Amino acid sequence: MSDFREQLRQGLLDSYKHRIEKGCACAICGKEKLPLAFHILEASFSEGEKLPKSFVPMSSSRGRVRGSYPICFSCAPACKKCQLPIPTEKVMEFGHKLHAQTGNGICQHVQMRLLLSAIFKRLFKIGRFGNKA
Ligand SMILES: [Zn+2]
Ligand SMILES: [Zn+2]
Repeated sequence: MSDFREQLRQGLLDSYKHRIEKGCACAICGKEKLPLAFHILEASFSEGEKLPKSFVPMSSSRGRVRGSYPICFSCAPACKKCQLPIPTEKVMEFGHKLHAQTGNGICQHVQMRLLLSAIFKRLFKIGRFGNKA
């Protein structure tokens, strides 16, 4: 408990982990009362713009509302090594559709199974790797 910077880093990492947040539901499956991660998919809108239902505003400045699409524990499971949410294909597809940005609060470990599924999809040009018609 001596290094202040280490504490800051830990605090940041903790904010990236799933947590229970009242009144928020998973943007993908709509389930409530599950731990949610708020730093997987992020987006910003102009103030006064109609916000998507699943979007949770967090801050606003200079006419922009910033926030995130919360993702639950079952849609983006926590990594066993770092406890940060794993950006699954399902999550990436969802973010792609919404034009959301990928946040910092995701596991950076290479998840072999997900990598294989992404390669598979790319090969067969499905989902987010599909050709734009
Ligand atoms: Zn979910
Ligand atoms: Zn990890």
